[in-house]
Amino acid sequence: MNMSNKKTPMRMQDPAQRAKNFDEVALGYSEEEAVSEAQRCLSCKNKPCVSGCPVGIDIPAFLKKIKERAFDEAYEIVTRSSSLPAVCGRVCPQETQCEKECVRGKKGEPVAIGRLERFVADRAAAKKVKTERPAPNGKAVAVVGSGPSGLTAAGDLARKGYAVTVFEALHVAGGVLVYGIPEFRLPKAIVRREIENLKSLGVKIETNVVIGKTLTVDELFERGFSAVFLGTGAGLPNFMGIEGEGLCGVYSANEFLTRSNLMQAYKEQPETPIMKGGRVAVVGGGNVAMDAARTALRLGAEKVYIVYRRSMEELPARREEVEHAVEEGIEFRLLCNPTKILGVEEKADPKFGFVRGMECVKMTLGAPDESGRRRPVPMEGSEFILDVDTVVIAIGTSPNPLLKDTTAGLQTDRRGGIVVDERGLTSRENVFAGGDAVTGAATVISAMGAGKLAARSIDQALFS
Ligand SMILES: Cc1cc2nc3c(=O)[nH]c(=O)nc-3n(C[C@H](O)[C@H](O)[C@H](O)COP(=O)(O)OP(=O)(O)OC[C@H]3O[C@@H](n4cnc5c(N)ncnc54)[C@H](O)[C@@H]3O)c2cc1C
Ligand code: SF4
Repeated sequence: MNMSNKKTPMRMQDPAQRAKNFDEVALGYSEEEAVSEAQRCLSCKNKPCVSGCPVGIDIPAFLKKIKERAFDEAYEIVTRSSSLPAVCGRVCPQETQCEKECVRGKKGEPVAIGRLERFVADRAAAKKVKTERPAPNGKAVAVVGSGPSGLTAAGDLARKGYAVTVFEALHVAGGVLVYGIPEFRLPKAIVRREIENLKSLGVKIETNVVIGKTLTVDELFERGFSAVFLGTGAGLPNFMGIEGEGLCGVYSANEFLTRSNLMQAYKEQPETPIMKGGRVAVVGGGNVAMDAARTALRLGAEKVYIVYRRSMEELPARREEVEHAVEEGIEFRLLCNPTKILGVEEKADPKFGFVRGMECVKMTLGAPDESGRRRPVPMEGSEFILDVDTVVIAIGTSPNPLLKDTTAGLQTDRRGGIVVDERGLTSRENVFAGGDAVTGAATVISAMGAGKLAARSIDQALFS
């Protein structure tokens, strides 16, 4: 038993060095470190940590196997519930899920469950476990979107013998895992590896196909698919609706991150360039805002601000990402809200020209609102100007209306989310949906959970 009240530290790239490169920041545990950390687990009989895991991984069981150095068995236990453990070990908000419930967390730090999940997944990948192809069951399913919900649904259905084709609008599969979350947090080789695993199960992936434009959902049925899963995410950026949002140098976080991650705008002469260097303000306080700010830094910005209207306590990003951003020198302007983005040519049409600054107002926190968090209230007369030339807006995204507009009878709610029942079934027969397309922007693990549920429901619907 390891009675330390602190997590076994993980090796990291030095902050000064990593702020200039896109390599992964956290370097993972060695075998000795993993065993030592697993020895902090008390093997609690009532398994509180499991109740905090959205896909119910048997956490004490896999930690026990690590203690015994039975790493393959630990991996087998994890993959019974999670199909992307190398991803989840890196990006899940463990502090609000499994680790929040961990008994060791009451008098110190919880067991580092996420880091140990990553350890067993990376170790198994290095050993290249071979995947068996299941016998075909004669039915075909179309999966729309290749993010975590689509990949999980595709994998589970392929393991049941379905002929699965994934249709992806972009030229690369992986969803937010490739176009959103940057390399320094989630190396793309890991996502590619998971996609290769799916292909070895027989899953076909067709990129550059926009369902609702290239083909409709009805045409998928006409082509012989018995069921369709919609895992199209929530890729439509929200804006603040303030003056100056149309100026050159104002990006949505989605555009900024896609240009950098997917289109490799960090290269010398990229096909899709991006503003590099200068002074950057990122508006928002979630994981997306942290990723955009840290990407801007790595692209060469001289100064990067996070502008967030509440305080550090309410900041929704993963704790580790906030700590890393602070260590790298990102400045947090908390309790501040933008009111106007200023262009270089003051007298010119505010829709054109380049950014020269952002006017913000200071905020104070009032009574809790419907989200349970204290409502930010502007302090009259406290306006000030932040001297920046690039603004990245990371205040959330919504589901794209394309499928709703092109699929007769597909019901959506007032936020644009596809309406589903408890099985993941939409208002259309044999059309299922899950992930951000249903819930709005959420987490990788909840998208995976929805993909798993839909795969089970599709199987029941087609074989009952
Ligand atoms: C920058 C960023 C950082 C994040 N960080 C974290 C984190 O640290 N931890 C965490 O848990 N979550 C994080 N999230 C949230 C998480 O990534 C998402 O909740 C998750 O990816 C949702 O999965 P999904 O499968 O529903 O959709 P997505 O991952 O969005 O995938 C949807 C896919 O569908 C494709 N598509 C859309 N429309 C069509 C169409 N009509 N036809 C064909 N294809 C289509 C899209 O191109 C996309 O590839 C982050 C999100 C972003 C943007
Ligand atoms: S709650 Fe923490 S200590 Fe208890 S079994 Fe889970 S991981 Fe181990």
